[in-house]
Amino acid sequence: MAPNVTYLCPTCDNRIHLHLQQCPHCKADLTQIAEAGEAADVCFNVGLDAARRQQWADALCSLALVLHYRPEDAGAWVLAGKVYARLEAKDRARSCFAAALRHAPHDEKAQAALEAVGGDPSPRNTLRGFQA
Ligand SMILES: [Zn+2]
Repeated sequence: MAPNVTYLCPTCDNRIHLHLQQCPHCKADLTQIAEAGEAADVCFNVGLDAARRQQWADALCSLALVLHYRPEDAGAWVLAGKVYARLEAKDRARSCFAAALRHAPHDEKAQAALEAVGGDPSPRNTLRGFQA
């Protein structure tokens, strides 16, 4: 999954792939960022696995780490929201799905998930500040 993830180089603001060790534009050393990205991928997979085994607390711990590294990761927000929905924590689920939609406004999975827990996926409701 890592090769598809891009971010802005902290030095030159060009969009680059997360797994790169060095920026191809300005040659900045990106080793630590690449490692954080890999850590986020590992955490996401651990969280997904825990969710499939219905180990919700483990899943949320791993997803919290993913979102620490990658707060813009809509997929991680959606998965966290689904875990909260399973735990009947609908307010938190709504916040997670709304956060996903702030980063990926056209994500149909997030829109459907938000509606399923009684939220409104229209932009005016998801652009407000939410906290996980
Ligand atoms: Zn750069």
